[in-house]
Amino acid sequence: MNITILTGAGVSAESGMKVFREKDGLWENHRIEDVATYEGYVRNKKLVHDFYNMLRAKVKKLDPNNAHIALAKLEQNWTKGKVYLITQNIDDLHERAGSKHVIHMHGVLNSMICEHCGKELEFFEASTSEDVCPHCGRALLRPNIVWFGEVPYYLDEIEQILGQTNVFLCIGTSGVVYPAAGFASLTKTNGALNIEFNLEKSKIASDFALGVYGKAGETLPSFVDKLLEMGDFSFLNKDNS
Ligand code: NAD
Repeated sequence: MNITILTGAGVSAESGMKVFREKDGLWENHRIEDVATYEGYVRNKKLVHDFYNMLRAKVKKLDPNNAHIALAKLEQNWTKGKVYLITQNIDDLHERAGSKHVIHMHGVLNSMICEHCGKELEFFEASTSEDVCPHCGRALLRPNIVWFGEVPYYLDEIEQILGQTNVFLCIGTSGVVYPAAGFASLTKTNGALNIEFNLEKSKIASDFALGVYGKAGETLPSFVDKLLEMGDFSFLNKDNS
């Protein structure tokens, strides 16, 4: 029984990361068009570098929360099939909680990419809008983040994973950013058991057979413990319906 997990900004909220759409429509006090689109980057490269430098420095000081830890425990202990973890998050909190195979479909904070040759470089410090690619020397480095209007990473691999999914767990995602928001509909069509974990019903709640509502750091640990203890999902009817 293969389990596929999709996480979004909500899984890192209890660690201190802000979710994408705060009530004011801003992300960490910035307009999304300014810091999460290529057009915004071209308009003001310094602002965009400064923004991701700020986020990189912030994430360094945060710790994984109980939701990240529970998902790592599931990956390490599930023996009845595979566990795939796909995240829309750019932070490294899943890895720091112990998850070994994390598919970052929207890129990672600790990386830069060359605009010319596409070389990806691990990067842990502060970048500037003058940093030239050390590999080809022909272009500037930009944050290795998939912005709105750009194609997410690993889509072929993700499509294969979704096709082999028996249980799809969607955690802390609002269901408005595509293509990730379309994954639940795909796995549902393929007959998977879809479960969402969120504070409230997401925009795609109708794609889920079950919703577990509350903070993921509070709901996931007991869910994972029960799943590992039982070895299947039969407990859900009693505890989570
Ligand atoms: P989103 O901000 O649109 O939605 C967050 C969702 O999480 C909401 O539905 C909210 O109800 C839920 N939530 C908040 N706190 C929660 C908690 N404690 N437990 C469970 N659920 C909780 O995020 P999204 O759907 O991931 O989409 C937006 C994009 O935001 C992604 O592409 C991602 O790259 C980017 N992003 C990433 C980070 C990060 O790396 N930590 C942070 C902000 C935004």
